[in-house]
Amino acid sequence: KQEFQKYPTKAGRRSLSRSISQSSTDSYSSAASYSDSSDDETSPREKAQANSKGSSDFCVKNVKQAEFGRREIEIAEQDMSALISLRKRAQGEKPLAGAKIVGCTHITAQTAVRHLPPPLSLSPTGVPVFAWKGESEDDFWWCIDRCVNTEGWQANMILDDGGDLTHWVYKKYPSVFKKAQGIVEESVTGVHRLYQLSKAGKLCVPAMNVNDSVTKQKFDNLYCCRESILDGLKRTTDVMFGGKQVVVCGYGEVGKGCCSALKALGAIVCITEIDPICALQGCMDGFRVVKLNEVIRQMDLVITCTGNKNVVTREQLDRMKNGCIVCNMGHSNTEIDVASLRSPELTWERVRSQVDHVIWPDGKRVVLLAEGRLLNLSCSTVPTFVLSITATTQALALIELFNAPEGRYKQDVYLLPKKMGKTMEEVPFGLH
Ligand code: NAD
Repeated sequence: KQEFQKYPTKAGRRSLSRSISQSSTDSYSSAASYSDSSDDETSPREKAQANSKGSSDFCVKNVKQAEFGRREIEIAEQDMSALISLRKRAQGEKPLAGAKIVGCTHITAQTAVRHLPPPLSLSPTGVPVFAWKGESEDDFWWCIDRCVNTEGWQANMILDDGGDLTHWVYKKYPSVFKKAQGIVEESVTGVHRLYQLSKAGKLCVPAMNVNDSVTKQKFDNLYCCRESILDGLKRTTDVMFGGKQVVVCGYGEVGKGCCSALKALGAIVCITEIDPICALQGCMDGFRVVKLNEVIRQMDLVITCTGNKNVVTREQLDRMKNGCIVCNMGHSNTEIDVASLRSPELTWERVRSQVDHVIWPDGKRVVLLAEGRLLNLSCSTVPTFVLSITATTQALALIELFNAPEGRYKQDVYLLPKKMGKTMEEVPFGLH
């Protein structure tokens, strides 16, 4: 790995210069043909598709759109200096030579940039991908199964985001763990599951907790949310932020990001907190610290960012004013008690994708976004630069686990070691 760190990275910078002229030549007609084809109702599972190399080892909505995907990836690469830099370094040392990685993550243009060139590619044609927008639950597990259950190929590393892939391998293909060298897990939920396995003595391989790495916490949670909260709200509601009364529940990393973005646009922001230090921080940053019950009637916008359950209760939803927008930027879909809104006296009206009006018997409407799931993941894009930092951290974790001498990691959950500090300083930010 020392060798690997030695590699010069100037090439990384060079690779960022690319020609965008090609991708801008036919944008209008391209956009039209793209939307036409995305209307196709046939399940990708039913379609016989092959890529330009003749391979059918993938399942996507429409492989004919690959060229547009390629252009999206080129655009993403412009703001992914960290990954490009790591990719260039890896070309010399090939720190993942021999690694067979099966991954389960959000598939976006930015994810594609993460795929290092061979040997990370599984075949000369690239990485087989099983994913499409609008997958059903059944499709989701089918896709995971297709990735794991591959004839003549068995993964020796797992890259997971949410713990579903790890869960599937444990349940259906436990023998994979005989040869596996580790799991890299991205999410809070997945990491939680890994700690549970470890506690129960059931974790069969070392696992790396990427979620709690400083690069993830500071960039994904704080800056990503600072940008994507506005994007998610605009796309769904077209709300004007200036002058609006907003309460943000939780003033941790996510809450701090949301508050600073909303304040900058002229919203009147107050916060709720249960931790005195975070409450004081909010105070020092110029936000009024309140109890939700005291302000709920006046609020135009309620945002949860706590990682906790039932932070907004049915009683508080009952007391909100007409038109109040409610959304969640924290954990899963349990911060707002959405289940309690599915009761006979309330009417749900879908007004837009990801936007429901919940209507009380007196005609009051509450605007619920993404059914209480994460607003930014459901309704906005995530800044490419932040994804680059997160993905680079994942790649470094894979490299660390794959190259670790025997005995360094036991069957337990680890944070990225501090000794990678120098690499971590340089690489995630694309510094050379
Ligand atoms: P954090 O621990 O830094 O902050 C959470 C804060 O909420 C803490 O200060 C805590 O005291 C406070 N809190 C807990 N329960 C509360 C309650 N009932 N009322 C008021 N405050 C309460 O965590 P974080 O990094 O800010 O992450 C928060 C959540 O957001 C986590 O679930 C995390 O997984 C999730 N997250 C979301 C995104 C996204 O893209 N939307 C990104 C990263 C993390």
